[in-house]
Amino acid sequence: MHKKLFIPGPIEVKEDVLAKMAMPMIGHRSKEASELQRRISEKLRKVFYTKEEILLSTTSGSGLMEGAIRSCTVKRAAVFSIGAFGKRWYEMGINNNVPADLFEVEWGKAVDFNEVDKVLATGKYDLICITHNETSTGVMNPVEELGEVIRKYPEVVWCLDAVSSMAGTKIEVDKLGVDICITSSQKALALPPGMAVCSFSQKAIERAKNVKFRGYYLDLLALYEYIQKKDYQYPSTPSLSHMFAMDYQLDKILEEGLDNRYKRHIEMAEYVRAWGKEHFELFADERYLSNTLTNIKNTRGISVAELNKELGKRGFQISNGYGKLKEQTFRIAHMGECTLDDVKELLVNIDEILNF
Ligand SMILES: *Cc1c(COP(=O)(O)O)cnc(C)c1O
Repeated sequence: MHKKLFIPGPIEVKEDVLAKMAMPMIGHRSKEASELQRRISEKLRKVFYTKEEILLSTTSGSGLMEGAIRSCTVKRAAVFSIGAFGKRWYEMGINNNVPADLFEVEWGKAVDFNEVDKVLATGKYDLICITHNETSTGVMNPVEELGEVIRKYPEVVWCLDAVSSMAGTKIEVDKLGVDICITSSQKALALPPGMAVCSFSQKAIERAKNVKFRGYYLDLLALYEYIQKKDYQYPSTPSLSHMFAMDYQLDKILEEGLDNRYKRHIEMAEYVRAWGKEHFELFADERYLSNTLTNIKNTRGISVAELNKELGKRGFQISNGYGKLKEQTFRIAHMGECTLDDVKELLVNIDEILNF
């Protein structure tokens, strides 16, 4: 039996979108390929609220995170981590020989923008990495406030991990001043895993020109320059199947209307939060709750593994806590094409299993 996924990626993909993955191949150096990739970039510019270039990558989101920190740091990267994915960005820097420092907060909390201000004021850093929506904790960082702080440091390139939030909540990339905003196909874009996309600002482009060793496959400047010269084609063979599906899914997203989409996500989030508070507690700081997933503290000491097993028999799957939180929390994703009715159906099943 197929289990309906309420895990924070991969998420449910609609059948008509899945079917696009099975379209016949086209040559990746054909005019159709150029048009396909140009169309996708134009639509993504709307979703990202940007006029800057969009890069497509046949990797998951981690690929572009690694490419960003490596391609655009000259002096030193400041990585602000509020959970597992923030820490990962730091490790990517270190493993690529990029000078980087890690600034962490306790899991469940948001980034402290006074701390960001203090760190950037030292003048040591020319790149900052921040997670927008920390999937391990269920915290969504306050990007507007962060934008105001980071704007004070024009030499700093801002990389934002919006992997689990873009297309589920409004992120106005240009207005905020984000230089490289990254997302993956398998989260709120509701596509199969295997592709990532990012915005790439003029400032990031100029910076990358001063970085000597940018790697090869994930050299963001090389990708940018190639698509300018070759009419939106990429240096190596991309996952055209993902592109067929993405082109189609972006039409559906824009047809729904971005504001309607965000509203639907907030409605689902509010419903799950209320349920979580009624029966358990929420893990994250209530001022900064994620709109795309809810992390619930297992205050009743239930067996999360057992709950998921029972849910599985009924055709649903949720997520246990991340890493060290495995049995201490459980996470319910409500993103992509998921509806309030889907969420209600899931929670009714959990109520039955737990005798609420
Ligand atoms: C899923 C996720 C990632 C990793 O993305 P992949 O596409 O699996 O490489 C990074 N950051 C956040 C916040 C995520 O949710």
